[in-house]
Amino acid sequence: MDNEDEYPHGGDGGQTSADTSQSKSLVSVSHSVKRSRTSDVWNHFTLEEDENNDKRAYCKKCPKQYLMLPTTGTSNLIRHHGKCSMGVDVERKRVKIDHKVAREKFSRVIIRHDLPFLCVEYEELRDFISYMNPDYRCYTRNTAASDVVKTWEKEKQILKSELERIPSRICLTSDCWTSLGGDGYIVLTAHYVDTKWILNSKILSFCDMLPPHSGDALAGRIHECLKEWGIEKKVFTLTLDRAVATQ
Ligand SMILES: [Zn+2]
Repeated sequence: MDNEDEYPHGGDGGQTSADTSQSKSLVSVSHSVKRSRTSDVWNHFTLEEDENNDKRAYCKKCPKQYLMLPTTGTSNLIRHHGKCSMGVDVERKRVKIDHKVAREKFSRVIIRHDLPFLCVEYEELRDFISYMNPDYRCYTRNTAASDVVKTWEKEKQILKSELERIPSRICLTSDCWTSLGGDGYIVLTAHYVDTKWILNSKILSFCDMLPPHSGDALAGRIHECLKEWGIEKKVFTLTLDRAVATQ
């Protein structure tokens, strides 16, 4: 049996937490607690008085309780919170997470599912992740945005190396359009067969481009992009969408 089951109060030693929580009527006395409760562990316990006017700390997640004498510290509470069977699986809690890896993985969730950066601040999501691993450190939308850019840069380098390595030529398609607000965009996609004979299509650039989308402007922009990716000499074909403007 764990130490935490030994109550520092005579007569309570054999009492199970479940029957006490059911049989005793409790009165909240948080307003009368003289000792200040500054420890974070108090976020996970409530302090109440039982029918004998003894103060007890009750775990918010399970029926566990601790008698709190004026001299009692919070070590038992901290120990219990660390392994509360209703809060977190003990084995899982022992798995240390690499925060850098966790953040990068979440940035991929944001990218893949087109989520707002703000989602890392969703209260219920934070609660869920903290439940899965209490070591998880919450972060803000600004950090999420910076993580997404880092992941993009990392993927860009991987794709760049792949385009350098492939023995085949690259075909490009481009699409331009103007939004209702008058903003112009261009997207350039590369299509190539990799070393395993698999056809890949990857977006190389998706950026703003002021109208008019003339042939010269398009050529300039696409050439810039090819230089950036180091594939000027590997292009096989280029397919454009607006024949009228690009004659
Ligand atoms: Zn508990």
